[in-house]
Amino acid sequence: MTDTERIVADYEAVRGDQEALYRDLHEHPELSHQETRTAEKVIDGLRTWGFDVVDGVGGTGVVGVLANGAGPTVLLRADMDALPVEEDTGVPYASTQVATDAAGARVPVMHACGHDVHVASLMGAARLMASHTDLWHGTLLALFQPAEETGDGARGMVDDHLFDRVPHPDVALAQHVLPGPTGHVGVRNGAVLSTAQSMRVTVYGRGGHGSMPQNTIDPVVLAAMIVVRLQVLVSRETAPTDPAVLTVGSLRAGTKSNIIPDTAVLELNVRAYSAETMARLLDGIERVVRAECEASGCPREPEIERFGAFPITENDSETTERIEEAFRDLFGDSVGILDLQTASEDFSDLPNALGIPYSYWGLGGIDTATWDKAVAAGRVLEDIPVNHSPKFLPVMQPTLKTGTSALVAAAMSYLGKEA
Ligand code: ZN
Ligand code: ZN
Repeated sequence: MTDTERIVADYEAVRGDQEALYRDLHEHPELSHQETRTAEKVIDGLRTWGFDVVDGVGGTGVVGVLANGAGPTVLLRADMDALPVEEDTGVPYASTQVATDAAGARVPVMHACGHDVHVASLMGAARLMASHTDLWHGTLLALFQPAEETGDGARGMVDDHLFDRVPHPDVALAQHVLPGPTGHVGVRNGAVLSTAQSMRVTVYGRGGHGSMPQNTIDPVVLAAMIVVRLQVLVSRETAPTDPAVLTVGSLRAGTKSNIIPDTAVLELNVRAYSAETMARLLDGIERVVRAECEASGCPREPEIERFGAFPITENDSETTERIEEAFRDLFGDSVGILDLQTASEDFSDLPNALGIPYSYWGLGGIDTATWDKAVAAGRVLEDIPVNHSPKFLPVMQPTLKTGTSALVAAAMSYLGKEA
């Protein structure tokens, strides 16, 4: 038996408390930057198990520090926030929470991205590592960050002097629960999640009566031209081997069929797998918008605002090989290669602040029979709810056990006496 197996063998001792914590978190989700109740639960547990706790980092961020002699320092990260989604899973611990969002609107709240799985798994791993300090040496950082969904939680912790307040890690590790069979983990070398950027584009025309278009500059036609023209940035200007996405998710103009409005507002989202491709797409968007406004003879320059930036998540190969080996030792055939994901994450803002290597892996959360049936029927897209859906609900087990064990195995591949 390896030391990792010895620690994981103790899982049954934490299972009950962990499942209770998971149900509690699921029932009481909190929006980005509002994770105070979650942070309190985390702080309580970490203190009980002997961690030094640094809290209030970047708002509600918490880091548990467990110093256990000389050796490497490993950062394990979980995100704590939930989403403005109305839960439709029907489980007894479903959320009925409502909260006020950043814009002042009352919205339903749900752990629709599975961050409750991440928090519960990291709590389980922290507790197991704390009760087996004889089997490892070094320093363990259990980091719970706010506001992953808004893309500014990790950066907020860094900007709030996170790394002046805790020891500098040598490596950072994180996971995300995804549609995939429970009990399975997926690793990937290199780019794993896209870099993303949202933009709000306001174009200015000249309004008037719908019967007299000759007296106007129609921003609706202009906005439509922009939407069509933007499609070529991916289809004609980006290499087919270089994946990228450009979506115009919102297009607003006008109030009535016979009034030509003054302005139109487009909101768009761009994703790519390299900073260079992203920069080229963003330049291309500005070029197209300005040129189309010029073509329409707009009375005013367009306004282009950027928001919702996410960094690329690009796994370090040496780190990924090391944790893959640890996963294969522990999970055997239940380790696969994670597909390139088009979603984005802000986790890499933490390691990037120090220039340290990191790896980020996927954790399956779907009942295996349900998953296999959907795969066999070719109906994964239709039958399996994905993250952010009101029906997304990872099965509790063995998802929590796998998430906990994966964190222990990955940490032990650095901190273990056999490492
Ligand atoms: Zn999410
Ligand atoms: Zn998420």
